Amino acid sequence: MNRFILAACAGLMATGVAWADVTEEDLLNDQATTDQILTNGMGRHLQRYSPLDTLNQDNVKNLVPAWAFSLGGEKQRGQETQPLIYDGVMYITGSYSRLYAIDLKTGQELWQYDARLPEGILPCCDVVNRGGAIYGDKIFFGTLDARIVALDLKTGDVVWRKQIADYKAGYSYTAAPIIVDGLVITGNSGGEFGIVGEVQARDAETGDLVWTRPVIEGHMGTLNGEESTMTGTLNATWPGDMWKTGGGATWLGGSYDAETDTLVFGAGNPAPWNSYLRAAGNPEGTEGDNLYAASRIGIDPSNGEIKWHFQTTPREGWDYDGVNEVVAYTDNDGNKRYATADRNGFFYVLNREDGAFVAAYPFVKDISWADGIDEQGRPIFNEANRPGDPTAAADGQKGSTVFAVPSFLGGKNWMPMAFSQKTGNFYVPSNEWGMDLWNEPISYKKGAAYLGAGFTIKPLFEDYIGSLKAIDPITGEVKWEYKNQAPLWGGVMTTAGGLVFTGTPEGEFKAFNDETGEELWSFQTGSGIVGQPVTWMQDGEQYVSVISGWGGAVPLWGGEVAKEVSYLNQGGLLWTFRLPEQLASN
Ligand code: CA
Repeated sequence: MNRFILAACAGLMATGVAWADVTEEDLLNDQATTDQILTNGMGRHLQRYSPLDTLNQDNVKNLVPAWAFSLGGEKQRGQETQPLIYDGVMYITGSYSRLYAIDLKTGQELWQYDARLPEGILPCCDVVNRGGAIYGDKIFFGTLDARIVALDLKTGDVVWRKQIADYKAGYSYTAAPIIVDGLVITGNSGGEFGIVGEVQARDAETGDLVWTRPVIEGHMGTLNGEESTMTGTLNATWPGDMWKTGGGATWLGGSYDAETDTLVFGAGNPAPWNSYLRAAGNPEGTEGDNLYAASRIGIDPSNGEIKWHFQTTPREGWDYDGVNEVVAYTDNDGNKRYATADRNGFFYVLNREDGAFVAAYPFVKDISWADGIDEQGRPIFNEANRPGDPTAAADGQKGSTVFAVPSFLGGKNWMPMAFSQKTGNFYVPSNEWGMDLWNEPISYKKGAAYLGAGFTIKPLFEDYIGSLKAIDPITGEVKWEYKNQAPLWGGVMTTAGGLVFTGTPEGEFKAFNDETGEELWSFQTGSGIVGQPVTWMQDGEQYVSVISGWGGAVPLWGGEVAKEVSYLNQGGLLWTFRLPEQLASN
């Protein structure tokens, strides 16, 4: 405890004044304020674009390490955090629900919060955490036992701690929260356990629930402790009681478009994976669509009401979660759009006002489950590539197997893309892989895997799986591509200096030319990078940070691909790089 007090005093002495509370306006201006980073995505639209150009294509070769910070202990596994920066302190989360405050100048630890996780937590896909959120005098982050914690920014003391859902039923939490108008807004994880996806908003001061919005049709939302409205129409697209354990985990958190005052959350796969168990008969022609699983949902942040939805994979049966981030942006023709690169292999462009479909382009090769996307944004299914119904099999136990592309880990998974206001392009971390997939019978049991499917992931090509692509969202054209042997699993950042940063599982932290894809700089970090880079200005110099620590879903679920990358070492080191002022003009 002494260490905490000393650190806090040192912080106060260094600044000389009491720390100011972070406001809604600070969050609104996060992208433009280049000496601090308060939000996941470097702005709540999640563009991951920095207007800084001190560090640029000419001088990035002079970028050197400033300090490194070890997360310590025996708890390693995937490190997927995005650092936050405020008032001389860097805040990072670590595997096993840890949070660290680090002196921004020296890399010295100020305090650490280590959540005491109960026995029996059920994280599906590694013990990761993707970052926190800063507001007022607190930092907020979620834990693997499906709780949300508010800590004092200065001391790390717990201010409040609330349960999102019951971890014994398979719920967990790994995403960065998002804060809008004093509300801390979270999703949930657990789509492989038959949970129900939900978005919750809490008062940042007290942690009290303000509203909840389940994302599976038939469930009731709440507002100020009372029932508000039903999500969708009961049984319109779900048979019987299947909606009660219908999945749709909102596990990647959300984005916020301030211009339309809209929260956008994605919902994961409907549960179980075996889609024949979710087929419904109804006159609307939407048999078994299973809304709003595998969808993006626009939500009013003041009351949790659904404004619009867009379903990427109706009748989903390949684990193509619809959770990937929705980025608000203005394209080079001046159109205000949303874009999202879906697990199902298609890059979607939507209208900012109402979420209406504008265009879709395949962004990975050899997509097999659909022949394309129609004018309404609905997939043109390739029925031959749907895994078979087990009840049609001779033994009733294993349906016919298909080889489907992309694999269930997706053309793109959680790892965030970046949008450049300089080039108008998206920089998308993608993977080229497929899977053998078959269906099996399954029934729901609390806290047990609820899949009704079996699978093996396989590479498509001998020389690479990972593919970083520059995509023009107006035409869908891939402007350039960087191929990587191992699957990419880390975030991307782009800057006004014409740089695109990302890391590889092989441990290289790289900078590319945003127009050509030429590799301009690389640094070996010692373990695989599955974290998210950031950049900021400090004392007249530009800094870049990224965490290194291999893990995530690939080593756990990657089948043949996991075997190919089993040589990669774990780790847990936050690297901070600096462009020395005297080398900035070179
Ligand atoms: Ca899933």
